[in-house]
Amino acid sequence: MVTKSTPKKTTTQSNAVKAAPAADYKQSVAKFKDSVLNHLRTTIGTSPAKASKLAWWQAVVAAANEDIFGRLTDTQETHAKNDTRAVHYLSAEFLMGRLTINNLTNLEKFDIARDALKELGLDINEVCEEEPDMALGNGGLGRLAACFMDSLATCKYPCVGYGIHYENGLFRQEIRGGKQVERPDSWREYGSPLEVCRPESIQNVPLGGYVDKQTAPDGSVSSVWHPATIIKGVPWDIPVVGYRGSSVAILRLWESRSTEQFNWDVFNAGGYVDAQAEKSLAETVSKVLYPNDSTEAGKELRLTQQYFFCACSLRDILRRYNRTHHHDYSEFAKKIVIQLNDTHPTIAIPELMRLLIDEEGLSFDAAWDIAQKSFNYTNHTLLPEALEKWPVYIFEKLLPRHLEIIYEINYHFLNDVVEKKWPGNNDIKAKLSIIEEGECRKVRMANLCVITSGKVNGVAKIHSKLVKEDLFPEYAELWPNKFCNVTNGVTPRRWLLACNPGLANIYNEVSGKDWPLNLDECEKLKKFADNKDYQDRFMKVKHDNKVVLAKTIKELVGVDVDPNAMFDVQVKRLHEYKRQHLNLLYILSLYKSLLENPDMDIPAQVFIFGAKAAPAYTLAKDIIYAINAVGDKINNDLRIKGKLKVVFLPNYRVSLAEKIIPAADISEQISTAGYEASGTSNMKFAMNGALTLGTMDGANIEIVEKAGIENNIIFGLSVEEVQSLKANGYNSWDYYNSNSELKSILDWLDTDYFTPGQPGVLSSIKRSLLDNGDPFLVLADFASYKDAHQRAQAMFKDKQRWAKAAMINSATMGIFSSDRSMHDYARDIWNLQSKNVD
Ligand SMILES: *Cc1c(COP(=O)(O)O)cnc(C)c1O
Repeated sequence: MVTKSTPKKTTTQSNAVKAAPAADYKQSVAKFKDSVLNHLRTTIGTSPAKASKLAWWQAVVAAANEDIFGRLTDTQETHAKNDTRAVHYLSAEFLMGRLTINNLTNLEKFDIARDALKELGLDINEVCEEEPDMALGNGGLGRLAACFMDSLATCKYPCVGYGIHYENGLFRQEIRGGKQVERPDSWREYGSPLEVCRPESIQNVPLGGYVDKQTAPDGSVSSVWHPATIIKGVPWDIPVVGYRGSSVAILRLWESRSTEQFNWDVFNAGGYVDAQAEKSLAETVSKVLYPNDSTEAGKELRLTQQYFFCACSLRDILRRYNRTHHHDYSEFAKKIVIQLNDTHPTIAIPELMRLLIDEEGLSFDAAWDIAQKSFNYTNHTLLPEALEKWPVYIFEKLLPRHLEIIYEINYHFLNDVVEKKWPGNNDIKAKLSIIEEGECRKVRMANLCVITSGKVNGVAKIHSKLVKEDLFPEYAELWPNKFCNVTNGVTPRRWLLACNPGLANIYNEVSGKDWPLNLDECEKLKKFADNKDYQDRFMKVKHDNKVVLAKTIKELVGVDVDPNAMFDVQVKRLHEYKRQHLNLLYILSLYKSLLENPDMDIPAQVFIFGAKAAPAYTLAKDIIYAINAVGDKINNDLRIKGKLKVVFLPNYRVSLAEKIIPAADISEQISTAGYEASGTSNMKFAMNGALTLGTMDGANIEIVEKAGIENNIIFGLSVEEVQSLKANGYNSWDYYNSNSELKSILDWLDTDYFTPGQPGVLSSIKRSLLDNGDPFLVLADFASYKDAHQRAQAMFKDKQRWAKAAMINSATMGIFSSDRSMHDYARDIWNLQSKNVD
């Protein structure tokens, strides 16, 4: 179908609503400018003549805060007055990124601020480059929590986000000699204007010590915990601005401090040194984010962090509840719902029980009833190395009373529930028990979550199915209705409106001004997917974004790339299951073909990587080194005539993602099927008009369902095929021996071709794929992956075909707005209504 209509010419690069008369707009610009100048003098204490860019940024934040804090207060007053039911989102990670441009966008003041700064001779994007990323998370899980906060605020769901105020977020990655070097990330070394401390809501959290039994005069026995130390939790609030200022939610992050308050029992019993040591521990608790993505750290400090923020958050929740309910807990589950983002906040379950039993005088049964009605759990991974298990001895040392409560929950579960369903079956009991027996007994946090929670959800359809059928099949037999799915989403404000103003303009025109609130409206672009004028406009936006990224690449790594080349992007945490090494093997095969035939008729291609590796994950670091070494060789090889470039952009983070994603032609989503729970960068890329080159895994499946398999490039083994190949004994050597190209590429890694004078430094990758059995089936998927790339190249040469596919991808991603995810949670899990702010 070819439609006749042609695009209207727009005169500005604005993404704001231009309904307001020009005079009003000019006045708003003047007002914002005055506010910035005023804050520069009176808040920051400097003058335009002396002000650094940092000072200007601080003044801009102060000017925006004028709007934000008023709305924040209104939002809180509304909820307090109406005693609204609210969700409490507990997450050890919130990967917020930068906030200023987003806040201005959501206040619909971005254009105003930009023009105001222009009048002051400043570029708003340059000024906002001063803002450090708030990188209080590792990757997808933490970024999901951040997108959810944006959507909760936008959709006006009463909520509080609770997490940890890490002094150091995820490490800053430097690349030296091609290798990752970790540097501390001190994002708020000199304070941040984006947060506000609330000393009036400080909480004290007990830790360590011992439990003894006390017999009351009536003969009843109760446990009394004598903690060794008290840690002070100081709350910092970060306002999260809903789109169009609809409501302003709170993200409350806890910082640990020492209290100087020792337990005198321990202190006087000769524990003076121990007590001092505990004091420095108190100050260490919120110092640093554990840099492991999808791997459990298993460290005492990590459990302390988890407990610390959960204990602070629950006390905060109880304090707020009791302002109206005066310690009558009959309404608790009606007013409070708690979402556990993965198992990291599981300890909140026994902590709530403990607070209700030991401090509020409820019975075990009453407390258990409340816990079951309040908690829900989101599972994020099936990887066994990510499922948290804590040695019982660590619990005995840090949380002896919680361990007692866990034992009691477990006793009731095994004897009342499991025994009834499977009488006398000790194998099932051992499997479902919260305690793993063995030489080192362990507490299985996921089991505690599933047993307690009202709902357990996975994060994409396929993942939720695997959670129910493969990970927790017996639990699903006990409680079939407990398990559900909520497919992840991303906020279209940050990931389209703010980061891709060119494309946002097209949607403003085609879909009307409300698409950021109802992303399904973008589907209106679909009917222009065959229209040459719209195709040209869409691809012009893409090209302009590529020009900007090419400049950034030159600045960051000094490599020249051609914006006309196909930009093929894989940015995400470095992990074997995500298979960056599969991508690398294909690059080697392409390079080899080009060396053999430099005139090969293929589009020029730029492969762009960004990835942090966990500091102790040696193979992941080796893959980063290999990408850099191979890239260095290829980028400087004149024989291939610039047809292939490979760049690794250091320090991948939210603000870099916002620059890369709008410029991508191809989104690499190539995890082994069954291993990527959902993925969210796949959604960001598709929204911005990249085609997914990927496996049928996680949310890729649902993306393809919407955008059409013909508009994406799908390859590789399916979940079922992966399972049966593994069950029948996968042997990667067979692929090596039978595919001569694959063999020559892998053997190449043993030579010093990419690392002159140092043969063997890239061999660990080959070893993992052969001697170590290739656990993620890289070699099994190689041929199919190569074929997918060849299909992508052919399609890219047909500019109209490509433009159509890119447009359809972008236009059909409405369902992946995190607003939709929030509506799903609110309806299926939280039973939560949105509430207009008075
Ligand atoms: C979206 C995002 C992620 C998640 O990426 P996946 O490819 O889905 O794993 C990780 N890090 C950052 C900075 C992101 O913005």
